Amino acid sequence: MMKRQHLNKPARPRASNQLFTDVVGELGKGGITVAHIRHPHLFVFGDHDPKNGKIRINTPLFEVMTYLHEACHRARPSWSERAVRIWATRLLKMLDDDGIADLHRRLRKAMKQAA
Ligand SMILES: [Zn+2]
Repeated sequence: MMKRQHLNKPARPRASNQLFTDVVGELGKGGITVAHIRHPHLFVFGDHDPKNGKIRINTPLFEVMTYLHEACHRARPSWSERAVRIWATRLLKMLDDDGIADLHRRLRKAMKQAA
C-alpha cells in the first residue's frame, strides 16, 4: 500500500470543497473513456481535449504500475516500501508502450482467472 503523501491538506477548505464539487460535477457531462494513451517519452495518465471536452483515463497504465509495485512486494517480501517503490518505478520505465500493452493483457488475463 502506498501512502497518500501527494495529497496535501487544502489551505482554503471552502475553495477546495467548491472545486471538488465542480470537478465531480464534470462526471455528469460524460465523454470520459478508458484508453491506453501512447507517448514515446512520457507516461501519460490521462488527457483532456479542450476542443470537445473529452477526457481519456489511461487505466491500463495505472493497472500495470500498481501491479508492478504490488508484485515486487510479493516477489521480494523482505524489501522495504522505499525499495519496492524504487524498483517498481525502474521496471515500469523499462517498458515501452507495447510492453505496457502486453503486460496489461497478461495482467487482465490473470485477474480473470483469479475471479
Ligand atoms: Zn507498497
